[in-house]
Amino acid sequence: MTERLRIALQKKGRLADDSFALLKKCGLRFAIRGGGLLARVKNMPIDLLLVRDDDIPSFVANNAADIGIVGENVLVEEQLTAKTKLDAEITMRLGFSRCKLSLAAADMGDIKKPTDLNGTRIATTYPGVLGKYLKDKNIDATAVEMKGAVELAPSIGIAESICDLVSSGATLEANGLTAFETILKSEAVLIQSGRDLSEDKQALLAKLMSRIDGVIKSAETKYIMLNAPKDKVAAITQLLPGSDAPTIIPLAGSDDLVALQAVCTENIFWETLEDLKALGARAILVLPIEKMMS
Ligand code: ATP
Ligand code: ZN
Repeated sequence: MTERLRIALQKKGRLADDSFALLKKCGLRFAIRGGGLLARVKNMPIDLLLVRDDDIPSFVANNAADIGIVGENVLVEEQLTAKTKLDAEITMRLGFSRCKLSLAAADMGDIKKPTDLNGTRIATTYPGVLGKYLKDKNIDATAVEMKGAVELAPSIGIAESICDLVSSGATLEANGLTAFETILKSEAVLIQSGRDLSEDKQALLAKLMSRIDGVIKSAETKYIMLNAPKDKVAAITQLLPGSDAPTIIPLAGSDDLVALQAVCTENIFWETLEDLKALGARAILVLPIEKMMS
């Protein structure tokens, strides 16, 4: 029997849906239902361990899972607060669930910059990351640890400021708070321990990582097709973001026009299309790329 690779994932929350979607795009077939702790991938020897995100780093470190997908913020916090060194490190950045751990205080208050924090209290669910930041910056403030609803701390008088995750800033704004310093930038990451995996699992992990890489790259990559005057091909090629040599194809019945096709590894903006058109390009098509392997 082949060994099954076990991946720890957040069961429910802001990381969960994008993690499931990524694995599905990598070709894994599975269904998440009910309260089960384990979901079986039908078409590959992989099991998904569905847990709270805070448990993922230690589950990977303690061999309850081979790899995990977790927010970098949670990984760093667990690393900083673990009693003994946590054996879990980033193997790959995944580019989704981007957010920042920021310091924020009342819009109208006295705290506008990090040094204003001296002698004050800061509410947070990230005592590890905050503690390290304060120490590194030589700021003498007290961290007030909470389990949630940190944004309410200033209004109920528990703390003068907060250290919390921010993405759009809407929650801060709704509570009359403004962020004045970012202490950590985070995205979802694939983590692994330093343990060696069996040959089977290692091969499967390598395959999975190559597919993840393809999914991430293809999300930004586009295929562009257009017709161009022959004498403008060089200028047009220059405008295409992150593309290799394009394919040039003669057009039936035309001596001065050619068809040009290229893979662009960066986003193509409307402005680029307008510039291409100004150079004489016509019938411009931008197509998404579903899968990539290099
Ligand atoms: P759990 O029940 O698993 O402990 P949780 O309540 O701790 O969940 P979520 O709110 O689901 O956590 O957030 C999970 C992770 O998603 C965060 O640790 C962070 O990496 C990321 N995240 C948090 N807020 C946002 C956001 N607004 N936008 C994008 N990603 C976010
Ligand atoms: Zn959590």
